[in-house]
Amino acid sequence: MKKLGILLSACLSCVVQADEKPSAIVVGAGLAGLTAAYELEQQGVDVTVLEAQQRIGGRVHTLYNVFEQGQYAEAGGELLDGIEVHTQVHAYAQKFKLDFEEVGYDYDTAYFIDGKRVPESELEVLIGAKAMADYDRFWEELEALAKLVPNPAQLDQAPNAKQLDQQSVAQWLDGLNLAPKARTLAEHHIRGEYAEPTQMSLLFLAHQAKVYEGVDDDQIEIYRIAGGNIKLPKALAAGLKKPVLLNHAVTEIRHTDKGVDVIAAGKAFHADYAVVTVPAKVLSQIRFVPQLSAPLSNAAALGYGSHTKVMLQYSKRFWLDAELNGDTVADLPLGWTWEATDQQQGEAGILTVYTSGRFADGDRYKTDAELIAAAREQVAQVYPGADALFLRAETQAWLRQPWQQGGYSAYGPGDVTRFWQAWRQPQGRLIWAGEHTADRYVGYLEGAIRSGQRAAKQLSL
Ligand SMILES: Cc1cc2nc3c(=O)[nH]c(=O)nc-3n(C[C@H](O)[C@H](O)[C@H](O)COP(=O)(O)OP(=O)(O)OC[C@H]3O[C@@H](n4cnc5c(N)ncnc54)[C@H](O)[C@@H]3O)c2cc1C
Repeated sequence: MKKLGILLSACLSCVVQADEKPSAIVVGAGLAGLTAAYELEQQGVDVTVLEAQQRIGGRVHTLYNVFEQGQYAEAGGELLDGIEVHTQVHAYAQKFKLDFEEVGYDYDTAYFIDGKRVPESELEVLIGAKAMADYDRFWEELEALAKLVPNPAQLDQAPNAKQLDQQSVAQWLDGLNLAPKARTLAEHHIRGEYAEPTQMSLLFLAHQAKVYEGVDDDQIEIYRIAGGNIKLPKALAAGLKKPVLLNHAVTEIRHTDKGVDVIAAGKAFHADYAVVTVPAKVLSQIRFVPQLSAPLSNAAALGYGSHTKVMLQYSKRFWLDAELNGDTVADLPLGWTWEATDQQQGEAGILTVYTSGRFADGDRYKTDAELIAAAREQVAQVYPGADALFLRAETQAWLRQPWQQGGYSAYGPGDVTRFWQAWRQPQGRLIWAGEHTADRYVGYLEGAIRSGQRAAKQLSL
């Protein structure tokens, strides 16, 4: 076995013999798990990655071979920020020689409210001057929330943290006293970006405002990885010495001060440490012996936004004919649309329909056919005649995915107080990672990557 250098002089020396390589089991091969595994190997750790599904990537899931004309779409995490914001996504992309594609067109977004569609430049005509002024005020107030959080990593140490955490975003919106149409648009934004306003902590929203304080709009959600986001997890996995073990759902982790014994797919694995990256909603599917202490014993209580994507391929990009970019903000359940194929070849185009919050909660019980039919019908309301151009569709309701059971974390009222620090404190030989454990960019690819890096560092401390 390879001799360990500096690592052994640290805490691992208490358990690992001088000629042994320390070992870790990483649970989950999403971006957090793959980053942790990659970085641990760089530190000289012997890593085994166990993944429940028969594919890697988790919530990064590019759908190839579904649509016509060789087109593809992102069923999960899609849009990436500029290099000074999502620094770690860019760093790994550079390391693995992956390119970015810039998204979008130089056309307007469409707004569809009360049955009428206008380009963004005419939004004020549609909703009236008072609602427009109130909607602008909402954005200013949202930015101002950043002031409540001096340090985004020490969120629960902010002045009045407990009080702000107990308050829901809906209560904060009540206090803004917005005109009804401005309130509709404000709720629409919060729901689509994070979660239903009634189910989201104001302190968590303030945290997100702080993380994005001073970042220009033209640096936000501007890229995808060229050829599909799945290239990033694939590159990380290809950089590992041992292949990820697919179809290895972890069912039990026994942990002592000497190491961890993990059961997956009926087999036993032993290591010095486990890095557990499964989403909080499904952590309880793993039996921990001894049991996890609070609050992680009740991790499923952490707030998550519900988000469903329905990707509709049409034979023609009809929105461009109307000099619109495919982005739609609608007061229909569908929520948002945007084009998935703006940088792809072909006459056809894929419109992603993104339904969130209370409008997506019930999707857990719907069939794919029902979700697709509803999305088609609503797109046809916004763009009359569109359905005649329909080719095919695919859908991903993340609430229904057995290994996620939710979209991405959006801390609910009281959650910051309960969970914020807990995710970054190891419980003995167990270390936590995943977007929900990040201290910046929670709910993004960037957060998942940073959490994996942090977990790898924690193991070597
Ligand atoms: C609809 C949607 C849209 C999004 N849009 C964006 C976006 O535009 N931009 C952005 O940056 N981010 C976006 N995100 C968020 C981003 O995709 C996630 O933050 C990130 O991919 C999460 O990575 P993760 O490793 O933490 O979790 P996951 O990717 O969920 O990885 C966890 C892994 O653990 C596995 N697992 C679960 N249980 C077990 C078990 N018992 N045993 C073994 N393995 C297990 C799962 O199968 C999975 O592979 C979006 C997410 C969704 C769902």
